[in-house]
Amino acid sequence: MAGDGALAERLARVEAGIADAVRDAGRDPGDVTTIVVTKFHPATLVRELAGLGVVDVGENRQQEASEKSAELADLELRWHFIGQLQSKKARQVVGFATAVHSLDRLSLVTALGSALAAREPRTTLDGFIQVNLTDDTARGGVRPGDLDAFAESVLATDGIRLRGLMAVAPLDVEPRAAFEAVRLLGERLRTAAPEATALSMGMSGDYREAVLEGATHLRIGTAITGNRPLAG
Ligand SMILES: *Cc1c(COP(=O)(O)O)cnc(C)c1O
Repeated sequence: MAGDGALAERLARVEAGIADAVRDAGRDPGDVTTIVVTKFHPATLVRELAGLGVVDVGENRQQEASEKSAELADLELRWHFIGQLQSKKARQVVGFATAVHSLDRLSLVTALGSALAAREPRTTLDGFIQVNLTDDTARGGVRPGDLDAFAESVLATDGIRLRGLMAVAPLDVEPRAAFEAVRLLGERLRTAAPEATALSMGMSGDYREAVLEGATHLRIGTAITGNRPLAG
């Protein structure tokens, strides 16, 4: 193992920042899960993170995630799929993922449901509905106006346990305002799905704002891993 002291230092710094935010928000530290986003980084870095106590890791490309999770099968990691996902990759993703944070259309939910039903023994998948906070329909996510109907479809799909919402703060909006909007959508979601209490939001640059607005799952990459190799 490389034993990169800088990695441990960055992880400790982010963990301290999260702890500060949790305290300032008057929240329970046990209610916030930090997912370290390891996309583009080699399996060796993920192994090093596991050695530092990291359990939850996030990936956004199926092929890369399938390979890394297979290589690291000896570790007790939870793999979170956080990227746009083609329906035809559903079978591979349910093979390694604990959670998919990017449920954004019915065809994907249906494909994941079928892939889960085909597994022996049966497994369940945690699902987060990604909401699009912009007017740009090319960005991933369900428009807020379509959320209620889409949530009904997810709830009707065996094997997927709807946990809550996921969002990325748009670049041109105050992160705090964006996360507040997600929190309010989450409250609306809970009228139909009382158990869907999770909010997956907050990245390297805005995790503090996310914690203050109730994030339960932070997805943090570069602040912990350092810059991504190749384009990120
Ligand atoms: C890459 C990525 C992150 C992590 O971003 P950083 O700015 O590196 O913390 C979080 N969420 C999603 C959906 C991502 O693709």
